[in-house]
Amino acid sequence: MKNTVLVTGGSGYIGSWVVKGLLEKGYTVRMTVRDKSKKEKYEFLTDIADKNKGELEIWEADLLKKGSFDEAAVGCDSILHLASPFILNVKDAQLDLVDPAVKGTSNVLEAANKSNSVRKVILTSSVAAIYGDAIDMKNQHLSKFTENEFNTSSSLDHLPYSFSKVQAEKKAWEIAKQQSSWELIVVNPSFVMGPSLESISKSESIKFMRNILSGKFKSGAAELYFGYVDVRDVASAHIYCLENKAEGRHILAERVTDILSFSNLIEAEYKDKYKLPKSNNPKWVLSLIGSFFGLSRKFVKNNVGIPIQFDTSKSIEKLHLTYTPLQQTVRDMVDQMESQ
Ligand code: NDP
Repeated sequence: MKNTVLVTGGSGYIGSWVVKGLLEKGYTVRMTVRDKSKKEKYEFLTDIADKNKGELEIWEADLLKKGSFDEAAVGCDSILHLASPFILNVKDAQLDLVDPAVKGTSNVLEAANKSNSVRKVILTSSVAAIYGDAIDMKNQHLSKFTENEFNTSSSLDHLPYSFSKVQAEKKAWEIAKQQSSWELIVVNPSFVMGPSLESISKSESIKFMRNILSGKFKSGAAELYFGYVDVRDVASAHIYCLENKAEGRHILAERVTDILSFSNLIEAEYKDKYKLPKSNNPKWVLSLIGSFFGLSRKFVKNNVGIPIQFDTSKSIEKLHLTYTPLQQTVRDMVDQMESQ
């Protein structure tokens, strides 16, 4: 019989692929949701459980409630902690992002401490915990971002989501070092793309693709470079870390590209079906109109037109990850959105 694994954020965009993978492998998945009565948020996973070897248990827990995960962790061998808000536009960065990320991580790891059964915790961090602005690479005299860097340029006022991720990951390492019952393994995905198993996620991944397809950037894209990775590869990396020896942090990115080149991948498949950008907006224009796209002047200055690179060799060598080509990721995501 396979082990029991606690998964937080299992109803989300990435989490649901992780839960699906675990159910297919026969695990008992103890998934936490904020409100068990909102069945529409996880029913699709109950259907997947019915068709597979594994079992799905739904438990209630909230990142912001101390002790909320304690009961659910008892009897689990491992925890996959994915829950954390991935929202860029928030009213109160402390309350809406940093508190759930940091207090949530403490609450989940304290539950691991109290459980007496948990031996491994896999934390979904982000490349946002590695760097904040693209210009950090130059400022830190790096040719690539690696697993050695921690984001030092984000704050509550500037890129608060990235700030929430670096604070949460640091908190996790701090708590992990104070005990010896379980080991911490961290996954740092870049921007996650690919088909969604559910249709209600608020993840920025889904929003980004919807914005591109709806023509939001048709008058011109911002020359912003992001790493991209397929959601199914991210799920596989989590499960690999669960089942095998792994240590430390792991950057995940199939490639780095700018928004225009990303859109060109859509155009290559779907021709003129969508109102896609045909060029980049000049940086000075973005400094003036950037707020329309939610971009502050500081963000434009430190990111637009500044390429970045990631060293992804650890994910390939240690996690044996074969990345899904971005073209396929994009095609599968658009096809899935069209079928909704
Ligand atoms: P989703 O919004 O789809 O999932 C977020 C999950 O967190 C949801 O299941 C949500 O539950 C849960 N959650 C949020 N707030 C709380 C809370 N207060 N208590 C309990 N659960 C909560 O986002 P993604 O799947 O994209 O993100 C999952 C993880 O991956 C996050 O940690 C994110 O930072 C990280 N990540 C994402 C990347 C991406 O490009 N998508 C890139 C790198 C990292 P509910 O359904 O109740 O809202």
